[in-house]
Amino acid sequence: MKEIGHWIDGKLVAGNSGRFANVFNPATGEVQAKVALASTEELDAAIASAAKAQVAWGATNPQRRARVMMALVGLINRDMDKLAEALSSEHGKTFPDAKGDVQRGLEVIEFCIGAPQMLKGEFTDSAGPGIDMYSMRQPLGVVAGITPFNFPAMIPLWKMGPALSSGNAMILKPSERDPSVPLMLAALCKEAGLPDGVLQVVNGDKEAVDGILNSPVVQAVGFVGSTPIAQYIYERAAATGKRAQCFGGAKNHMIIMPDADMDQAADALVGAGFGAAGERCMAISVAVPVGEGTAEALRERLIPKIEKLKIGPWTAGDDVDFGPVVTAAAKANILRLVETGVQQGAELVVDGRDFRLQGYEDGFFVGAHLFDHVTPDMDIYKTEIFGPVLSMVRAQDYEEAINLAISHEYGNGTAIFTRDGDTARDFANRINIGMVGINVPIPVPLAYHTFGGWKKSGFGDLNQHGPDGFRFYTRTKTITARWPSGIKEGAALNFKAMD
Ligand code: NAD
Repeated sequence: MKEIGHWIDGKLVAGNSGRFANVFNPATGEVQAKVALASTEELDAAIASAAKAQVAWGATNPQRRARVMMALVGLINRDMDKLAEALSSEHGKTFPDAKGDVQRGLEVIEFCIGAPQMLKGEFTDSAGPGIDMYSMRQPLGVVAGITPFNFPAMIPLWKMGPALSSGNAMILKPSERDPSVPLMLAALCKEAGLPDGVLQVVNGDKEAVDGILNSPVVQAVGFVGSTPIAQYIYERAAATGKRAQCFGGAKNHMIIMPDADMDQAADALVGAGFGAAGERCMAISVAVPVGEGTAEALRERLIPKIEKLKIGPWTAGDDVDFGPVVTAAAKANILRLVETGVQQGAELVVDGRDFRLQGYEDGFFVGAHLFDHVTPDMDIYKTEIFGPVLSMVRAQDYEEAINLAISHEYGNGTAIFTRDGDTARDFANRINIGMVGINVPIPVPLAYHTFGGWKKSGFGDLNQHGPDGFRFYTRTKTITARWPSGIKEGAALNFKAMD
């Protein structure tokens, strides 16, 4: 059985804790590898070595660091297919979708080529007589990224890009469910010129995460995953004096106004609801048609589209719409929630419960499901299902629709489909959700804007990538400087204006 270890000091090393987790092929259900789960001692050694490597890296000029990012862009493009294959085989998503996963991470590395511009700081000439004032952005030292299974290329790259290009060393703790791609990315970083020890990929579970939280050396933790763990990490990081940004789960609503183009809205819902088997934090899981006529028009369009979706392994070709979910436990949880939907009175309009794929009976495939007449008290509405299940909640008017999204505990993404500019503008202004689409179902901001949810979808006050990525992984120091020729007074005991 293949054993997957860690990336420490510029090379792959075997784990020595004696603990392992299974890495599955989700399409067949077979265990394809075992990944080592680091002990606290292994983690501490990786952190100590990163701290040593950070000193020279932090002192390297920003343009040289940016050149590593530039080389990395070329190498990721060179290995795009290899990365996407490894990603699909452990995660289960289709090959085009896996390439998209790598691509959206790559775009953040492209943005980080501009790190010197982001780190330039501020300068005020003659802030007082003979006095100059300047602020600089300095790296934090050793920082950590803890990432989820559902984007094993994109989210590690979102963390690595700003952290490394601003001069930090990073401990990356990827998901133990699909650990190969982060290790491949670390090897590409080395090939791009990143010094050994600056990026350490430590595979592990709660023990490694707690080790990161307990380490006095680690200065910041960037986390993405489920809400209970996000909240746990945020609280523990605060208790140990670390900076933390922790992004959690989601329940994204799409509101469909009566004036929307119904064909376009139905296509958007199918793509955003079922792409990647619904395992996206920006997936639309709740459709809110406004008015009974809208609901009926939408429903009649959605049913045939959802029934036609092609489910299969990533090896079956590019016309597969979505693959299996990540583990047998994820599949069981999705099907359990579907049962609660039926028991609690929602109408299961498209029933994927009996879906079986010939030749892949042990794979973690889940059929597509559509519920209608879902109400806010039902578990399928309150809970993040993270599977191919779309719920329709009918609203009588726009106020009822917007208030559903406002009242939900999650606030990652949302969308409105309408032809009316006033309604769209009102929605964008009033909604308490971090990322908003207007006739765009999955409004994931590009690399030079920032990505982050509100409410229980995000803890901490800085977002991922864009300028916030650099703000999070650096701290500001402000210097007030006066040279001897400008000193014309004796001791001053009071605060006073500089002029
Ligand atoms: P998860 O919370 O199970 O795992 C995320 C990370 O936390 C992994 O590295 C895992 O090893 C670690 N972890 C798991 N249990 C832990 C514990 N008890 N203590 C300490 N660490 C622990 O999440 P997942 O299943 O890998 O990912 C899916 C979740 O991530 C979904 O809820 C999804 O919405 C969310 N997500 C959010 C965003 C966002 O930007 N808001 C993006 C992608 C995914």
